[in-house]
This record gives sequence, structure tokens and C-alpha cells, in this order.
Amino acid sequence: MISKIPRFLQQLFKKNVEFRQNTKEKVIFLTFDDGPVPEVTNKVLEILKRYNAKATFFCVGDNIRKYPECYQSLLDQGHSVGNHTMYHSNGLRSTFDNYKTSVDEFETLCKTNLFRPPYGRITKEQLRYVKSKGYRIILWTVISFDYNKKYSPTRCLRNSLKLKAGDIILFHDNPKAERNMLFCLKNVLSYYSEKGFRFERIV
Ligand SMILES: [Zn+2]
Repeated sequence: MISKIPRFLQQLFKKNVEFRQNTKEKVIFLTFDDGPVPEVTNKVLEILKRYNAKATFFCVGDNIRKYPECYQSLLDQGHSVGNHTMYHSNGLRSTFDNYKTSVDEFETLCKTNLFRPPYGRITKEQLRYVKSKGYRIILWTVISFDYNKKYSPTRCLRNSLKLKAGDIILFHDNPKAERNMLFCLKNVLSYYSEKGFRFERIV
């Protein structure tokens, strides 16, 4: 499996999708998908605070509804939130109408102009719809594979130490990924801080 999206592929989709942020500054964009889940997200928030790091959380609407206080903590601590649909809908397995509902229902809980399709999967029609609503589609440059139970924390970290200025890294703030994610996150923060990088949210 590839952990870094090849540049030619990035070029191909550049018009519709963002794989990285355009900057020459030493900035890395941490992103967390599938939360908020208090038992994990609160730990992430504590760690980020220690490094004065800001991040972007692509939340599942249903989790915002279940855990409104945890969601509020994200906002209070100055992080960005993106739409990851209401029910973590897989674009390729959803009808257009179901997908549309999942995107729209999220908006009753949170207003944002950032969108990340669950699993990175979306049809042309769905993409067109999401774009027509004014969303920027944010994917990632580097995937940590934190959710993969077969990967050890150190293997995930190897994937995570390939970051360059402007890159976006994908983590998951959910119980399945917790062990690998927390290990990687702490190490990414300390490694890149020492190299003079900052961690910013996508706005
Ligand atoms: Zn997801």
C-alpha cells in the first residue's frame, strides 16, 4: 500500500481536490477523521495543547450529536472542523439521494466549508454536488494507517515521518486507531517541532 499520494495523481485531481496546502513555510496540517469520541478525542486535544498545535477534525455528524461537549471543546480550543458526512457514508455504496442527505444533515449541526469524503470515495455526481455547495474537498498527502490493526505503532510512524512543508497527514480519533494514532501523533509533534515546523489548522 502507498502511504504518500504520488505527485502525478495529485496533479490529476488538483482542480477538484486538495492533497496539500500551498505554502513554503514549515507548516504541517494534522487532520483527524471520524470523531469526536470523548475517550480518544480528549486525549488528542491534550497532546495538541502541549505543542500549541492546531488541527482539523473531519467529524462524523452522528458523533457531534452524541458528544456535543467534546465537539464544543474542539471549537473552544481553536481547531477547524470539516464535514465528514452525517453517517460516514461511503460514496460508492450510497445512492445520490442518500449521500446528499448525509452531507446536508451534517450542516444542521455544523457550518463549515471543508469536506472530506469518507474512505476518500466519492462519485463524480456527488463531488459536483458537494462543490456546488461551496465546499473545498480536502484529502491528504500522507496516511498514517493508524486504523490498521495489523500495523504496529512504529510501522505507522515510519509512514508518518515522510512529511514536508504544506503536507496534510491523516489520523483517526476513534477507538480502533487509538493506540497507533497516539503513538504516532506524539512522535510526529516532537520530531517536527524540533525541526522548526508549526502545526496549523486548515482554514
Ligand atoms: Zn472517515
